[in-house]
Amino acid sequence: MALGVGLTVMRQGLVLGTTALRRRMLVTLEINNKDRAYEWFLAWMSRQTALQAQNSRALAPWTRSHQLSVETTVEQRKNGSSSALFKLVAGPGTHYIQYKRAWMQVKRERETKSMQLMSGIPWETVTLTTLSRDRNLFPELLTEARDLAMRGQEGKLVIHTAWGIEWRPFGQPRLKRPIGSVVLAPGVAENIENDIKSFLDRRQWYADRGIPYRRGYLLHGPPGSGKTSFIQALAGALSYDICVLNLSERGLADDKLFHLLSNAPERSFVLIEDIDAAFNKRVQTTEDGYQSSVTFSGFLNALDGVASGEERVIFMTTNHVEKLDPALIRPGRVDLIEKIDDATPEQARILFDRFYGGRDILPSAIDKELSRRLGGIVEEELASGRRVSMAALQGLFIRNEAQDAVAQCRDLFVTRRTP
Ligand code: ADP
Repeated sequence: MALGVGLTVMRQGLVLGTTALRRRMLVTLEINNKDRAYEWFLAWMSRQTALQAQNSRALAPWTRSHQLSVETTVEQRKNGSSSALFKLVAGPGTHYIQYKRAWMQVKRERETKSMQLMSGIPWETVTLTTLSRDRNLFPELLTEARDLAMRGQEGKLVIHTAWGIEWRPFGQPRLKRPIGSVVLAPGVAENIENDIKSFLDRRQWYADRGIPYRRGYLLHGPPGSGKTSFIQALAGALSYDICVLNLSERGLADDKLFHLLSNAPERSFVLIEDIDAAFNKRVQTTEDGYQSSVTFSGFLNALDGVASGEERVIFMTTNHVEKLDPALIRPGRVDLIEKIDDATPEQARILFDRFYGGRDILPSAIDKELSRRLGGIVEEELASGRRVSMAALQGLFIRNEAQDAVAQCRDLFVTRRTP
């Protein structure tokens, strides 16, 4: 009996001893998936281990561990095409990595019982454990992971979409579109650009006067005139991100909308497209009978938001400005309205020159003549009440040689009622 008691005491002593030793010698860092560092770390780790594998010509330790997760980013473009990208990251389980000669244990765990309240995503944590003496490696490692994530976005446009009540980057960062590649009627682009630049320069001015620091833009006009493209190009030029908000999205209710609009990521524009479609019947019903639960008054409330010092820029687009409720187009909600219209002769010519003019340093005499002829056709058609969208012209130029494009362009004109 004495032996039994002795052994138990010894075992407990040993357990306590190792725990104490672990506490003294080890240091752990926990990152949960609510934190942005979570994704940065996983991406960093997958790269780090890939590099190690390349150098040692052996597979990375966790690549051998049969515990991989795939992260797929699917990008759906407006023209219907899509692409998917796979990234293999460490799956739930225990992995070991070496960073600057220090070994670290990486434990990825998933909480299966509870979900995040709004997004329904399971909670996850990554716990890094290393020796106490290497504790100062954690900040270094996180900085490296962040820089890696940021480098991937540099010079690119990041689009965020709503996930429950959170904004998350959607798809891969895209190449920025040069602002000059969207050809608008004279003065329109400059007008919007100057307005937003002067707004962004006046943060203090707003603060001093206690006015909420926000501005709303409404771009209206027929489809395919460059509204979305221009907003994206403008965001790129100012190094802003874009948060795309779809008001008809399932599950989006007034409270979530309010939260989303008041918590957009820093340096981002909120883009709400086809604003007329969301509310022209006040309660929107889809074909399968689903009713959008964002109410018009809820939307106005969210636009007005709580007065905070946070900067907020909202861009709205519509094809039917006449259908909008006047309550929406009120200063404070919409501060600048610009019409982005079908092609003018001048716009058509500039777009033509951009497509075909680059072949030689100076446009050839033939190209100049074709461009002039195109301008003439647009003018004639406009006079007879027929119009063409810039998107249609772009499609024509992509498919044809200059000469054929001009010869065929009359087919594209349609009679459109302009509001
Ligand atoms: P909107 O938002 O007005 O419906 P988009 O910006 O989605 O139009 O444009 C659709 C396509 O047409 C894009 O590929 C874009 O490049 C092209 N496009 C439309 N308008 C212009 C324009 N003014 N200048 C250059 N390209 C344009």
